[in-house]
Amino acid sequence: MKHLALHTCCAPCLIGVYDELAAQADHITCVFYNPNIAPEDEYTRRRDTFVEYVQSRNIDYVEIDPHDDWTEEFGQFLELSSDEDDTTRLPECSVRCRACYRLRLARVGQWAIHNGCDGLATTLTVSPWQNIDAIHYAGAEVELWCPEVKFVASDFRDNYRMAQNKATAQGLYRQNYCGCLSSAVEAQEQRDARKLQRAADKAARKNAAHDHS
Ligand code: SF4
Repeated sequence: MKHLALHTCCAPCLIGVYDELAAQADHITCVFYNPNIAPEDEYTRRRDTFVEYVQSRNIDYVEIDPHDDWTEEFGQFLELSSDEDDTTRLPECSVRCRACYRLRLARVGQWAIHNGCDGLATTLTVSPWQNIDAIHYAGAEVELWCPEVKFVASDFRDNYRMAQNKATAQGLYRQNYCGCLSSAVEAQEQRDARKLQRAADKAARKNAAHDHS
């Protein structure tokens, strides 16, 4: 591969994929396009952390404005790739996340075409929290739309822990939710549920110890 456009969601995930992809491509440009991130200050924090990391490693990068209007071309992509009538072929994934993957990958695919790239990949495939089948499906849809750009259907989930540990060691910001406001609420609910569970387990252990004393 000569030039890979790497959709990058954040610096910690980039750590988990960059070196392996660099071995497969002559050149990589990390493309930060994540209009899903809210609120605005969270977007800025993730973007700034990304820029800090890529600059520290002399990695080529670009940010696409999240407010960029490309409705017309996205409409063309949706028309060409849409198979909503044949839902049996779609991977199990919420409508919200599927739309989010398609939006981000299609926009970076379009950037790839305009910038002479022959490959497209995404850092999203390092995260065990993402739906990898839906990501691969969206990538295949983009490849259909832009045949000059081959989608690299990678799976870097085995690198996730290593990447998070490295990010922590380097003092990089690590977010605790995926990106949209719904995911922030869901992540908080999950943390609360785990906290309650831990408290219940502790109380049960205390009672068991008391019964045996
Ligand atoms: S949970 Fe993540 S992938 Fe799903 S819609 Fe929200 S930001 Fe996008």
